[in-house]
Amino acid sequence: MLKQAEPLEGIYEKVLSGDTPDREDIIYMYDEADLNSLGKMARNLAVGISGRYVSFVSNMILNYTNICNVRCNFCAFYRTGSEPDAYLLSKEEVIRKIDHYYNNLGIRQLLIQGGVNPDLPLQYYTDLFSAIRSRFPELGIHGLSTSEITFISRKEHISVKETISALVESGLETIPGAGAEIISAEVRKILGRPINSGNEWLGVMEEAHKLGVRSSATMMFGHVEESKHKADHLLSIVELQKKYNGFMSFTPWNFEPGNTDLQKKGIVKYRTGGADVLRNIAISRIVLNNSIPVIQSSWLTNGLQMGQMAVLFGANDWGGTIYDEKVIPATGKRVGNLRKELIVQSLSQIGLIPVERDNQYRVIRYYDT
Ligand code: SF4
Repeated sequence: MLKQAEPLEGIYEKVLSGDTPDREDIIYMYDEADLNSLGKMARNLAVGISGRYVSFVSNMILNYTNICNVRCNFCAFYRTGSEPDAYLLSKEEVIRKIDHYYNNLGIRQLLIQGGVNPDLPLQYYTDLFSAIRSRFPELGIHGLSTSEITFISRKEHISVKETISALVESGLETIPGAGAEIISAEVRKILGRPINSGNEWLGVMEEAHKLGVRSSATMMFGHVEESKHKADHLLSIVELQKKYNGFMSFTPWNFEPGNTDLQKKGIVKYRTGGADVLRNIAISRIVLNNSIPVIQSSWLTNGLQMGQMAVLFGANDWGGTIYDEKVIPATGKRVGNLRKELIVQSLSQIGLIPVERDNQYRVIRYYDT
């Protein structure tokens, strides 16, 4: 027990004095540290930042197309385009969908993500974003993965900077962290992503941050990665954050293997367990505490109960209601609709104060009874 406590105490002191744990510290926390001690430390740090307040956003996910030419081994969502269930939504269909959630459920964030559809020019996106912005003025567009942005820039023969600028001009507000997975090239090779796509993710984020466009960061764990890969991933995010402070939040989320090539090939048979999820949340808080103050839990893959536990292990943002999400159900996992009342209840039950926020983390309402 003493062996466990000593290094952790040193790491805690480091974080309290404003430093970031180093690679060795992070590998120690993954491989050896006691989970409860990690959780307690992470929760204390989160309380130091946001006290008993935990934020959430009322949002929907717009998966506008499932046609994708990247074909990652960990993805059950994509279609090549010839299958009967391949789809692309028109502007009118998108507006109809949003209309329902905007008017009936008061959503304030639209998370837009699709496949990398080779047929779509920049104008598809600019038309769509302009229409959404004029029709739903209170909705923040949190849109497109770095893969989609990179592909559009190549298709149009313009730079990533020009692509992001055109998207922002038509209504894009912020960029989600999707596509980061694990930055390491050796892991990406097994995941079926282009080897350099990790650096590309960092590069697109850097361009966005330089332009003053803020984004989220993510990490997908629970597949073939090792502790050293997660340590390098977290530290590369800290490095970029030091330059422009453009990341608003960090979400570690666990891989869902159902219906993916990784599972079919027997490389990853089962999803990771709850203890691993909590360890990743706690370590994310400890490593990023002085760089990215908002650590988001991912209830979507783990349910309400694990959402509560994540908050007790260092997360201080619940995430969103995520109405209409299509990627996780493609893995065969049943995901219910989560109303904001249930988020409020889940947080209140554990003695915390829910705070509804908008896309840019501005407070809309405190649920302090
Ligand atoms: S994860 Fe994204 S880029 Fe990869 S296959 Fe699925 S939709 Fe395409």
